[in-house]
Amino acid sequence: SAKRHGRNVSQRFRPALDVQDSPQMALVYSLRDALANGEQLELHYQTQHRIMDGAVVGMEALLRWRHPEYGMVSPADFIPLAERHGLMGPLGNWVIDESLAQMARWREMGLPQLPVWINISAIQMFQGELETALSAGLARHGIEPSQLGLELTESVLLDERAGDIVPRLEALRLKGHRIAIDDFGMGYSSLSYLKNLPLDKLKLDRAFIRSLPDDPADAAIVSAVLAMARGLSLDVVAEGVETQGQLEFLQQAGCRLVQGFLYARPGPAEAIEAQWQASVSSSSGLVLRAEPSL
Ligand code: C2E
Ligand code: MG
Ligand code: MG
Ligand code: MG
Repeated sequence: SAKRHGRNVSQRFRPALDVQDSPQMALVYSLRDALANGEQLELHYQTQHRIMDGAVVGMEALLRWRHPEYGMVSPADFIPLAERHGLMGPLGNWVIDESLAQMARWREMGLPQLPVWINISAIQMFQGELETALSAGLARHGIEPSQLGLELTESVLLDERAGDIVPRLEALRLKGHRIAIDDFGMGYSSLSYLKNLPLDKLKLDRAFIRSLPDDPADAAIVSAVLAMARGLSLDVVAEGVETQGQLEFLQQAGCRLVQGFLYARPGPAEAIEAQWQASVSSSSGLVLRAEPSL
């Protein structure tokens, strides 16, 4: 039959590495579709807390893809794929617009205006669309640049394709954006760039937090980074704080800000709203409190 013939033909001529039909390419195609209709993508938000009193000082927006078949696909899996297949530009622009749209919705709902931090990919830096997308989104949703922080990893900051990044970061900061180095300590670079880059914040990678307080090497590294950051007038957020022991070590070492499951897991916008509602109706003190100076 024709069907059987077709199958034979396709088997016979199938290239050894059939990229088109690989599960990875199928994922790339469905990510392209997800971007086109926007329905499977969402941002989750994880609050950042001041250790002293637990107050929320901001939150990080984290991209989520709810795939109809595979369920939640981790950004650690689909972001590298998007970067390789030309989808990171549009995806990054979607994150910018959606985070700002959400901030505008929260403003309408009367929530305190807390800074939201978004993650920026290397591709957004060297394709040069970043500044345009930010300006357009801020204007569209009426949000101040100071309310949108940018998290860049060391590898993004030092990616040669982005050209000289110093004047660009300076311009972004002049507009009011704050800049954080994400996953600090995991890069392969020297520390000398800390002298030259205009930065506000270091996010100390979870890898250094995980074995606190027992691991003496991690304890030494974390204490040294905190001391260095103080000298450089940089804020430090410890990432991935999961235990009381980690928290106590960090506080004693002079860390003021933390983000991690101990306080809150990333959740949809509604979870932030519920947290706010609960804080408003309880007398146990406001947990969601704007702190504009941070
Ligand atoms: P990241 O920017 O370092 O984000 C922190 C990651 O740590 C998040 O993983 C978060 O869910 C997780 N995390 C937070 N607290 C804890 C904790 O206490 N314990 C543990 N085990 N994990 C914790 P997630 O959401 O899976 O994101 C992974 C990475 O994907 C992010 O790392 C970031 O590099 C990237 N990513 C996420 N959203 C975006 C985005 O919109 N754009 C870009 N370019 N990258 C993104
Ligand atoms: Mg981040
Ligand atoms: Mg990080
Ligand atoms: Mg990370």
